[in-house]
Amino acid sequence: MPLLVMKFGGTSVADLARIENAAKKVQAEVERGYDVIVIVSAMSGKTNELVGWVEQTSKLYDAREYDAVVSSGENVTAGLMALRLQEMGIPARSWQGWQVPINTTSAHGAARFVSIPRDNIDAKFREGFKVAVVAGFQGLSPEGRITTLGRGGSDTTAVAFAAAFGAERCDIYTDVDGVYTTDPRISPKARKLDKIAFEEMLELASLGAKVLQTRSVELAMRYKVRLRVVSSFEEVTDNSGTLVCDEDEIMESKVVSGVAYSRDEAKMTLLKVEDRPGVAAAIFGALADAGVNVDMIVQNISELDNPDDKRAHTDMTFSLPTNQVDRAKKAIEEAAAAGKFAFSSLVTDTDVAKVSVVGIGMRSQVGVAARMFAALAAENVNIKVITTSEIKISVLIDRKYMELAVQALHDAFELDKA
Ligand code: ADP
Ligand code: ASP
Ligand code: MG
Repeated sequence: MPLLVMKFGGTSVADLARIENAAKKVQAEVERGYDVIVIVSAMSGKTNELVGWVEQTSKLYDAREYDAVVSSGENVTAGLMALRLQEMGIPARSWQGWQVPINTTSAHGAARFVSIPRDNIDAKFREGFKVAVVAGFQGLSPEGRITTLGRGGSDTTAVAFAAAFGAERCDIYTDVDGVYTTDPRISPKARKLDKIAFEEMLELASLGAKVLQTRSVELAMRYKVRLRVVSSFEEVTDNSGTLVCDEDEIMESKVVSGVAYSRDEAKMTLLKVEDRPGVAAAIFGALADAGVNVDMIVQNISELDNPDDKRAHTDMTFSLPTNQVDRAKKAIEEAAAAGKFAFSSLVTDTDVAKVSVVGIGMRSQVGVAARMFAALAAENVNIKVITTSEIKISVLIDRKYMELAVQALHDAFELDKA
């Protein structure tokens, strides 16, 4: 039997009526002759609520218990979806991660897949089951504890199942009808893309476009999964949505294909750090040990305020997720107290956002950065930190200008035009 993976995100299973709506889409594929693996998220808002409960109960929580709690939302929707399908006369059952078993690493809260043995689910398909409803986002550690894959992780569950079971396609059903040039909630001019290259999608996702979890795109690229983003709320045909595919499948590409943003950024600067070999290793080593995800890094020579002081100093600036600021401060203060490095003061700015432009066309075009900076300058948006890679340019700016910046860049690169 040909097999499809269909993943329904939180808004697509937000209540019983929506679960029924999703089940009908599954039914249509079953009637077309497919066996289906359905991956479900928790009902929309549920995971946030569960995370909140954990944080209210324990500030520096045990990550194993965090996973035990936050993985539970998916169990509810998996069971309800299986029941709904049964009510429609479709042989279906639910699977929690440990029942498959979905084997992951033991990195609680951010676990990675190790293996997905097919035997149990294959046996059920052979018995005549048409649908396996799998709880997304969760897995099983080697120690036998429940793990989760990081926020948005059900996308990754879907792609991993598509790879493991050799699915014909992996359809991600969500509340938008595809991948847009930027978040349609931010820019009314955002345009849906029919196709997007894996590499561009990977950058957009990692720079904040949460329509797909970054890791899901990585897996799809590695295992050549045909990955499509489609709407739960519209009729889906063969040409619907956005196909995430190899670059070669895309006829023409623009210099910039999309604009991404990340709202929850913070910036920290260590002023007047002693400038000697090993100091960056000591600072970022301490942050890494504390599990801080540092993103952009800039190092600048500090002005010597005392000309008689011949020792050179440097200012070290980096960005990180807002919710890791306390942890980062603690790690830096402890490492400094232990004599690993010294600095004059630590400045934190939690009101920043990152805005990025992404496009494979950038590889062969000059002047993209200049065009980006000019567009921001025209709106009087001050740039605090810049980073670039082969196919993206990111800037850190004041959060209050984030939407303005996204729209200005969307206009500057004429992304509303095909
Ligand atoms: P789900 O619950 O289905 O997983 P998500 O909320 O995780 O859905 O992802 C879908 C959302 O991603 C959309 O509602 C949209 O606001 C946002 N988004 C951000 N960037 C983009 C983009 N470039 N294209 C489409 N959607 C985007
Ligand atoms: N429910 C999880 C989350 O909200 C996983 C997902 O929806 O993909 O992050
Ligand atoms: Mg999601």
